[in-house]
Amino acid sequence: MTQEELFKKLIAHSKEYGFIFPSSEIYDGLSAVYDYGQLGVELKNNIKKYWWDAMTRLHENIVGIDAAIFMHPRVWEASGHVGAFNDPLIDNRDSKKRYRADVLLEDYIAKQDEKIEKEVEKARKRFGDSFDEALFRQTNPRVAEHRAKRDAVHDRMVKALQDNDLQELRQIILDAEIVCPISGTRNWTEVRQFNLMFETKIGSVSEGANTIYLRPETAQGIFVNFLNVQKTGRMKIPFGIAQIGKAFRNEIVARQFIFRMREFEQMEMQFFVRPGDEMNWFNYWRETRMKWHRALGFGDDKYRFHDHEKLAHYANAATDVEFEFPFGFKEVEGIHSRTDFDLGNHQKFSGKKIQYFDTETGESYVPYVVETSIGVDRMVLQVLSAAYKEEQLENGESRVVLSIPAAIAPVKAAVLPLVKKDGLPEIAHRIMDSLKYDYNVQYDEKDSIGKRYRRQDAIGTPLCITVDHQSLEDATVTVRHRDSMQQQRVAIAELPALVADEVSLKKLLEKIMA
Ligand code: ATP
Repeated sequence: MTQEELFKKLIAHSKEYGFIFPSSEIYDGLSAVYDYGQLGVELKNNIKKYWWDAMTRLHENIVGIDAAIFMHPRVWEASGHVGAFNDPLIDNRDSKKRYRADVLLEDYIAKQDEKIEKEVEKARKRFGDSFDEALFRQTNPRVAEHRAKRDAVHDRMVKALQDNDLQELRQIILDAEIVCPISGTRNWTEVRQFNLMFETKIGSVSEGANTIYLRPETAQGIFVNFLNVQKTGRMKIPFGIAQIGKAFRNEIVARQFIFRMREFEQMEMQFFVRPGDEMNWFNYWRETRMKWHRALGFGDDKYRFHDHEKLAHYANAATDVEFEFPFGFKEVEGIHSRTDFDLGNHQKFSGKKIQYFDTETGESYVPYVVETSIGVDRMVLQVLSAAYKEEQLENGESRVVLSIPAAIAPVKAAVLPLVKKDGLPEIAHRIMDSLKYDYNVQYDEKDSIGKRYRRQDAIGTPLCITVDHQSLEDATVTVRHRDSMQQQRVAIAELPALVADEVSLKKLLEKIMA
């Protein structure tokens, strides 16, 4: 199965089993907007809890807030979003399709990379054991040709983006002979800047309507509440404020499922530090956030850092945590050292003093900020794509299983009476009652037990508890484990402890601090 096929299957599976639906589907959907179904919302809530607890419980100096989506319009001037939160857009005159100019170029670069990999694979097959890959990459003329094209476009693009040179961006597209994937032509318009913020009106028109924005990030709600939280919570620097909430961006390149959405959710934490201490904290959060990801157990090689060489003018360090999705390594989280840019600008734009009096040094200052910013939806996609497996079983059958870490699985256990009679459903319901206050558990009595196991495998339920006739005699049940498919006989009275051990979020959280 190619990665592309895997990704298609994942999207179909997510819909078929009630994880993710296209928005307003009966009206043919709304591009880049998705709804979470009955299992998707459970998975998402569990991911959020994992993050929230990792921030606010494992760190005594981090507290959470929940700020409104609507904010004063001046916030977005201070943050730089009104002036500079733009994407460079280009239209193809024949297909009338709109693209992000930088994405067209990135796709071109990715294509050259693919061509290089194909040459390497071909040669590997041709030369067999004697293949010297490093030498081949260095010396093969076709590889060199692809790489030269790639590097030339890459270097020109980086410079054009940095200089905000829209004409040059268009010229690179023309020079690289990039065609529109729909029309196949090179009939391109000029490149224009397009602001990604959604606008709406607040108040009635007669009152003099005011344009406000749907927030494109949650961070600003934290910055404008810095003093409120610091004072009311008597917080001492260093300290952090965490928030989970919706953000909106009018993304032009809407694709890759829930990777890039127009309405999405972020989990952001701004950590306020003494100026000069920011690099220590940046390194702390870089490591700590990577541990949070790796604790999920998908394999350390699935993650990498992408340190930014080109920094925003206000940042003095930035890195992305990238995860290997079926469409390649892509950003799931950004960790940025933002200096005093945000609080400093809010101080300037609001005219209010936003400072901290440091009792240790006897000085007042505008704190520096190290932020960690992660997309909930990208985490859901990360979990689903790492968890999705098609397995051939020894008995010749196959199964689709979602090996979701038990602590964040949507359903923790399924209780299955072997037959719908003889008092077995009653026992099963009693087991449900003993578990349902602590966990999301499912009851299922339809179809053969094999089919019921497959259904639970397909939604990632770590434990299946089967009630059979022996249960009537000795008050035991069979517990089947999702990944190993191993079964064990357990006393009903022991079930709460067994489930607790298996699905413990605590164990996951402990791994981060280990
Ligand atoms: P990208 O370069 O992929 O557009 P970004 O660098 O603009 O992302 P940030 O502004 O740093 O992203 O936002 C922090 C996090 O929010 C990202 O790492 C990502 O997980 C998430 N995120 C950003 N934009 C989207 C989106 N359109 N859909 C889903 N998640 C998003």
